[in-house]
Amino acid sequence: MPQDEQQQKPQQTPPFQTAKGVHDILPNDHEYHTFIKKVVRHRCRQAGFRRITTPIFEYTDVFKRSIGDTSDIVSKEMYTFEDRKGRSLTLRPEGTAGVVRSYIQHGMNSWPQPVELYYIDPFFRYDRPQKGRYRQFWQFGLEIIGESDPALDAQIIYIANRILDDLGIADIFTLQLNSIGSSEDRTEYMQALKDFYFGKERSLCADCRSRLEKNPLRLLDCKEEDCKILAQLAPKLVDYLSKESLEYHDELKEYLEEMGIEYTENPTLVRGLDYYTKTVFEFWDKTDGAQNAIGGGGRYDGLIELMGGKPTPACGFAAGIERIIANMKRQKIRVPQKDDLHVFVAQLGKEAKKMCLPLINDLRENGIKTMGALGKGAIKAQLRLADKFKVPYTVIIGITEVREGTAIIRDMSVGTQKTVKFEDVVEEIIDLIGDENRDMYSPGEAIY
Ligand code: AMP
Repeated sequence: MPQDEQQQKPQQTPPFQTAKGVHDILPNDHEYHTFIKKVVRHRCRQAGFRRITTPIFEYTDVFKRSIGDTSDIVSKEMYTFEDRKGRSLTLRPEGTAGVVRSYIQHGMNSWPQPVELYYIDPFFRYDRPQKGRYRQFWQFGLEIIGESDPALDAQIIYIANRILDDLGIADIFTLQLNSIGSSEDRTEYMQALKDFYFGKERSLCADCRSRLEKNPLRLLDCKEEDCKILAQLAPKLVDYLSKESLEYHDELKEYLEEMGIEYTENPTLVRGLDYYTKTVFEFWDKTDGAQNAIGGGGRYDGLIELMGGKPTPACGFAAGIERIIANMKRQKIRVPQKDDLHVFVAQLGKEAKKMCLPLINDLRENGIKTMGALGKGAIKAQLRLADKFKVPYTVIIGITEVREGTAIIRDMSVGTQKTVKFEDVVEEIIDLIGDENRDMYSPGEAIY
């Protein structure tokens, strides 16, 4: 091939794909996201929680200090990078650390206590991608900061459970509950664990062998079969809990029972993060347990002080939105298809288009979800398009209609149509769609 011909031939590059472990949220899944957000907002608002959004990245130490160097998240899963001035930053792997940093930074301890906050945000972990495990995923979470009382832990658990119930998936999860006591309780227990595992290291998986020195609690929730068997035989944390921790836990259980919330006592539940104290809980899939936990949380009374604030008790909960959606689909739960169009406006010619543009605006102002075929296609082709968009009605304005000041309204399901006066189109369509189906959401009134 002559050289200049070779140069003209465009290079075929393969199309780009999403980076490993991340995914697009396509319109159909957005309907689920929107529904879940609405449920979360509604239940949180009812309970006096207010929304907070912290930055997507923080100084790396915010996570290192709070989540703990020995946790899987900090040791293996963080997206950490330096900015142009060499400062170490990390994409947030979870929500609590940032919220606590914000509580301290903005002096929220001077607000009426407890401060109740919630968030709905994306998070980032360098996890091994698999079903239900991504490198960017969404969570919603709730935090109650400023007071310690088992009734508050019970409240968080109640709201979490209520939200799962609203989403139609509460029945496929069990609430796993444990107390990991205070950090003093745990110091003695961790020594007992190390003593127990002494001489048994060879039966442990590689991860557990390295956890034994740094974070022996984590050996209890390892998923490897041999480690699980040993964990069952290991000393029980409950035998090392102080009287105060035990009483706290008993009171929490009383409150849960009072509210009709079922739970399973799980003495090996520890959660992966260092900052928990006393109450820890997770919602486990009834069929495959911890592998597909949908969310979890607990009390973190020492964290605010650890992060440089005054000693302040707190508790929280977070759940994964992708896993919620997967479970809703598994349960065949459909959500309102709020994006579905009501009306398609088809037209022919420039004069018709002039009539259509204000009509489309008018329909939309009246809560009718309207799409205009504003290209140059023939009416027939536009009607075929209307069919593809599955609209119930099409408004047609052709040359005759322009001349006569009318419009045709076509019922797409049966194929019948009628001619109405142009100025009556909006009222006619409202009647057909039904007042209750109009999309008249209003954000409330601002004061100007
Ligand atoms: P965690 O704080 O690790 O217990 O996470 C709370 C919830 O977030 C989990 O129960 C999951 O539903 C969700 N989650 C955590 N990590 C991921 C991930 N890599 N991909 C998708 N969802 C996740």
